[in-house]
Amino acid sequence: MGHLISSTSMLQAAREQDFGITAFNVHTLEMLQAVVEAAEDTNTPLILQTTVGTVKHLGPEYIVAAAQTAAKQASVPIALHLDHCTDYELLVQCIRAGYTSVMIDASMYPYEENVRRTQEVVKVALAAGVNIEAELGKVGGVEDDIVVEEEDARLAVPEECAAFVEVTGVPTLAPAIGTAHGIYKGEPKIAFDRLEQIYKQVGVPLVLHGGSGIPEEQVKRCVKQGMAKMNVATELRIAFSNAIKDVFTANPNENDPRKYMVPAKHAVKELAIRKMEMAGCIGKANAVR
Ligand SMILES: [Zn+2]
Repeated sequence: MGHLISSTSMLQAAREQDFGITAFNVHTLEMLQAVVEAAEDTNTPLILQTTVGTVKHLGPEYIVAAAQTAAKQASVPIALHLDHCTDYELLVQCIRAGYTSVMIDASMYPYEENVRRTQEVVKVALAAGVNIEAELGKVGGVEDDIVVEEEDARLAVPEECAAFVEVTGVPTLAPAIGTAHGIYKGEPKIAFDRLEQIYKQVGVPLVLHGGSGIPEEQVKRCVKQGMAKMNVATELRIAFSNAIKDVFTANPNENDPRKYMVPAKHAVKELAIRKMEMAGCIGKANAVR
């Protein structure tokens, strides 16, 4: 492909053609390579994501350099997205470094303040040709430093979603529909009727947060009802870490990082392909260009 692309056109194509694009949170070079290989091997469009915590851990320049290298070598379209950012300065810093998509999460504020903060980001990001995602309602669970207790999680209101997209001009929207960050206790209770109303009233691609552990038939239903992007974070971290734990269980004295990073990479790649299959984006690289 040559370079990282904005996720806007990718997600619009996904919405129009009724499939979902998987976005994977990566924390290390090996995790990034694993999901890129998964996309390459299956001719699938890819959204790489990092949390704010990972940006602080690695630095945006290192992350962008690795993602750009992947995009340069890959034959599939790749975007680099900043997940759940509440800090305007950091968000601008990531755009300057080369991120092609950002999420401004002001869902913890009242509606009007969410509008104001989203508008501020839309202005700077659109000028840079970068996609923007905003959240309405409140997704429960733990995402880096953002902790939302179960009783504080709120579903998005369809009329509010429509008005929000209209007034902010945000090109992608993450409406809370009952999914949560982290691992579910039991099955998630997804408000499909709510999603249906939001999809009918909102013309932009929708984003499904909390994609770890949602059963396959529920993922398929979400995609069918308009979720054009599915975020997967926790499950990838678990697969990565468990593979490393297995190596040390078998050989507690192992001290060559390649010996535990290679199986960890394989575990992430395998899981990424399974998630791509669930979202229906396998083989869709040509559909989003
Ligand atoms: Zn999220």
